[in-house]
Amino acid sequence: MIQDIDQILIARGAISDRVRELGEAITKNLEDVGEHEIALVAVMTGSLIFVADLMRHLPMKIQIQLMTASSYIGKSTKSNNDPMLGKLPEVKGMHVLLVDDILDSGKTLTRIRTELEQLQPRSIQSCVLLRKKLDSAMHVPCEYVGFDIEDEFVVGYGLDYDGYYRNLPDIGIISP
Ligand code: 5GP
Ligand code: MG
Repeated sequence: MIQDIDQILIARGAISDRVRELGEAITKNLEDVGEHEIALVAVMTGSLIFVADLMRHLPMKIQIQLMTASSYIGKSTKSNNDPMLGKLPEVKGMHVLLVDDILDSGKTLTRIRTELEQLQPRSIQSCVLLRKKLDSAMHVPCEYVGFDIEDEFVVGYGLDYDGYYRNLPDIGIISP
């Protein structure tokens, strides 16, 4: 697997330091929500490892819900215009922390946030590990961002190419 990777962009140590910082910032901001319930909504499958690590830096009582979104068809590195969403979580009256792996065109996060808003949550905040330095991505509201990266196709730490490389512990670049 590692021989397919052209370059390690973010090594595991840097990822884990940053995930801890994100957890601390989120915890601080959610400290005052009192008895209101918090739902962490993770967008599968790309956020699989990120959310597993992040949730262990969130010491408050928090419900974890998963939903699916897919914007790639087959062996492609370009996201589809219209992401397909799975069953929506139950978030009525809750504070929602929406967690995804990466903001690229921003279509996925925008679409999910719009759908969740219809469900009358008390609030919604978004958190992504990576954001590409693209106008499209920068204009999407996102309260927590791990790393801003160049517009390159990345894999590892949950992110795949054609279903592979999710188990790579670092984030790297491949030339498909
Ligand atoms: P968007 O809707 O913002 O264009 O795309 C978001 C989704 O596309 C992400 O949740 C992620 O699953 C996928 N994606 C976007 N950029 C990349 C990338 O560089 N690498 C991988 N593996 N997936 C990406
Ligand atoms: Mg995704």
